Amino acid sequence: MNAAVTTELKTIGHWIGGASVAGESGRTGPVYNPATGEQTGEVAFASVEEFDRAVTTASDAHTTWRHFSLSKRAELFFRIYQLFDEHRDDLARLLTAEHGKVLSDAHGEVQRGIEVIEYVCGIPELLKGAYSEQASSGIDVYSIRQPLGVVAGITPFNFPAMVPMWMWAPAIACGNTFILKPSEKDPSASLLTAELLKEAGLPDGVFNVVQGDKIAVDAILQHPGIAAVSFVGSTPIARYVYETGTKAGKRVQALGGAKNHMIVLPDADIDMAADAAVSAGYGSAGERCMAVSVVVAVGDTADSLVDAIKSRLPAVKVGDGFDPSSEMGPLVTREHRDKVASYLESGPAQGATLVADGRDTAPDNGGFFLGVSLLDDVTPEMDAYRDEIFGPVLSVVRVSSYDEALRLVNENQYGNGVALFTRDGGVARQFQFDVNVGMVGINVPIPVPVAYYSFGGWKNSLFGDRHIYGPEGIDFYTRTKAVTSRWPDPATSRVDLGFPQTR
Ligand code: NAD
Repeated sequence: MNAAVTTELKTIGHWIGGASVAGESGRTGPVYNPATGEQTGEVAFASVEEFDRAVTTASDAHTTWRHFSLSKRAELFFRIYQLFDEHRDDLARLLTAEHGKVLSDAHGEVQRGIEVIEYVCGIPELLKGAYSEQASSGIDVYSIRQPLGVVAGITPFNFPAMVPMWMWAPAIACGNTFILKPSEKDPSASLLTAELLKEAGLPDGVFNVVQGDKIAVDAILQHPGIAAVSFVGSTPIARYVYETGTKAGKRVQALGGAKNHMIVLPDADIDMAADAAVSAGYGSAGERCMAVSVVVAVGDTADSLVDAIKSRLPAVKVGDGFDPSSEMGPLVTREHRDKVASYLESGPAQGATLVADGRDTAPDNGGFFLGVSLLDDVTPEMDAYRDEIFGPVLSVVRVSSYDEALRLVNENQYGNGVALFTRDGGVARQFQFDVNVGMVGINVPIPVPVAYYSFGGWKNSLFGDRHIYGPEGIDFYTRTKAVTSRWPDPATSRVDLGFPQTR
């Protein structure tokens, strides 16, 4: 059943100029199958010199890529869409093998990424500028969108295919060339992506992959040839990337961590809310930046809600992601699993009630498993509330009123996603007005916007002023030029040293 067990370690290198390139630095990192705990591969870590070569290649490619007509780009993206559609299963299998998420969830990741490719098939429409005829007598003014040049993406472990698609698809469609620095924990999807793009006909050097760690990230942030950086990952690194990149003169969007609340009002449908809390709390083992981490039970809902959530937990099947009966896979590494499990110690020590202990229900086969876990009576001072746990540990905070619930969310340092469960449309409408969070779900627990809106949080969940993909993604990867033009007309020509005014 387990497709990922290998006897020989797979060597994972870079992709530069349309070909795979072996690492030269001598530095590497291990890649595991989280479902067994075995090391399956070794990924190269780039040196600054190796990264410099990628920038030179991408920069050379940009001189021709920016001339590709919009109709040729659209045609190419339709081919890219078709190839990714045909290779969904190959991509999904790589995700399950290295990340651990169950195969059906990996397919969901690929689907949501492909939707961004589908969106940029309309790039001719998306890049349309504006035109004002006769802005002044005989003068027209228009704006055009142009690419930035060579841009880079730095991505997290939890969506090794989709988050890169959020970046490379709009970046390349807008006429930029792209360098991806994937997570070193699950790097293989980046190379299959590169192969598919080449097969679709993308010119060499337009999409490149440089594997690595902090050295590669710092090289991206410092290199004068990189015009813009998109980052998705944890908040401390997002802040570092934003501050360092902007100081070096780059445009940066850096998406960070999250602590997503799901508020359940007394009038909510308790069964619907409990189903949503279990799905959104434990899906992908809680390793989603839009996972529900805290259920906020308002008023007298708490006891029945906790009972309803608890009653669903024994049925959640935890196991190898390649087993079709598994609903939740392992965590990504042993260290991360142990850190997540530590909240099952610190939570009760700080006064929380341990309702379900995933250490007792995790498969015991050497994989990085933790079963579904539930903490009740969590309060805002506890570590389990303050930290982004990023694992299958759901906390319940009990509050007495809607106002208290809203305050909790608004005072939290993160502002990625939030959900409100209620039957009252008026309260829901007031909530969407009042809440300081970038993505809001009304009776929807994971409100990831569709590809033609943009994705992004507020507060410490995003550094920079552009959300990712959708219309804001197009804005991020282009800059506008305004042209004021007049054609020779002897009737309107004269010497005038005054400041230009409209006539
Ligand atoms: P991470 O911050 O550890 O790593 C992200 C990237 O930064 C990786 O490519 C990694 O190699 C690099 N990196 C790590 N440490 C670095 C350092 N010291 N200096 C420079 N670069 C460094 O994040 P992760 O553990 O891979 O991913 C999980 C985190 O990502 C969670 O916090 C999650 O909420 C967040 N996330 C956010 C979103 C979002 O859209 N806001 C989406 C997915 C994941």
